[in-house]
Amino acid sequence: MIVVMRIDSSEEQGAAVIERIESFGLRGEVIHGEQRKVIAVLGQVFPDLRDELATMVGVDQVLRVSRPYKLASREVREGDTVVDLPYGVSIGNGRPVVMAGPCAIESEEQLRETAAQVKQAGAHILRGGAFKPRTSPYSFHGLGLEALEMLQRAGSEYQLPVITELLSERDVDVVTEHSDVLQIGARNMQNFVLLSEAGKTGKPVMLKRGLSATIEEWLLSAEYILTQGNRDVILCERGVRTFETATRNTLDLNAVALVKRLSHLPVVVDPSHGTGHWYLVRPMATAGLAVGADGLMIEVHPDPDRALSDGAQSLTPEHFDELMQEASALGRAIGRPLAERPRAAA
Ligand code: PEP
Ligand code: MN
Repeated sequence: MIVVMRIDSSEEQGAAVIERIESFGLRGEVIHGEQRKVIAVLGQVFPDLRDELATMVGVDQVLRVSRPYKLASREVREGDTVVDLPYGVSIGNGRPVVMAGPCAIESEEQLRETAAQVKQAGAHILRGGAFKPRTSPYSFHGLGLEALEMLQRAGSEYQLPVITELLSERDVDVVTEHSDVLQIGARNMQNFVLLSEAGKTGKPVMLKRGLSATIEEWLLSAEYILTQGNRDVILCERGVRTFETATRNTLDLNAVALVKRLSHLPVVVDPSHGTGHWYLVRPMATAGLAVGADGLMIEVHPDPDRALSDGAQSLTPEHFDELMQEASALGRAIGRPLAERPRAAA
């Protein structure tokens, strides 16, 4: 952190700043420029120190030189994080994976049919919501525990790792027991207690970006999980809210390329929520892979017109098959072929 003093600041004001810095057990080193004085703060700074120093008399501005998130940053870890899942599936090793399945698990038949079809098309991970966060309290909120059991059964029948949303602290144990990856939804990205609890389970966690979250806020949320000693964090860009209403959200592919540079964590792109329209999912999925995503999350439903949630953005199995073929061809063309199919359990 660097404290830039005002041009008209006095010696005493500079000395007071250094005294305050030292009172926190840090060191303040004065650098005299042509016109003004700057003070470098040396040692482990804490986030609130910036505000403390910024309000002192004679201080012009306080600048950060390192990032506020640490464990998520490439400053502390250069190599990519690779998250290992059952059936030999890994996320983050340079070979993209595809997570697919219904927005919500509606019945055993619907889930098994979808699982069979996405597996056949080459998906690596089965998704399905059991506890659904819905804008309206009158909408379908998922089948809860019953759905978790269906998901676990479908995962073992079709030999696919499974992912489902952990909506509340209330469900930590039951979701951890039934799922290979805990999904934290966009609406809970800053539910810090839930993030810590998810971190404590030791299960891989996929953290979706909040509806209006900055990249820094997103990475700080990942930090909450990482500080629990859980290194298996996956980030998911699912679109953010903008002035645009023609699409459900604006899929922020800048964020994907930037986060890959800032962080060692794997990044997954969700073009289903990112666009809200099934016919935009395939082009934005391949775009996501092209900018460096480590995976895709795609909503698939055997009969999207009758889906109980997110039908408009769900692909039919046929359309999903086309997406997989295109993603696979693109992956080969850019030297990042899709991951191998999941291995059958021994
Ligand atoms: C979902 O994956 O179905 C979901 C609710 O996603 P998000 O949290 O990104 O809205
Ligand atoms: Mn959905």
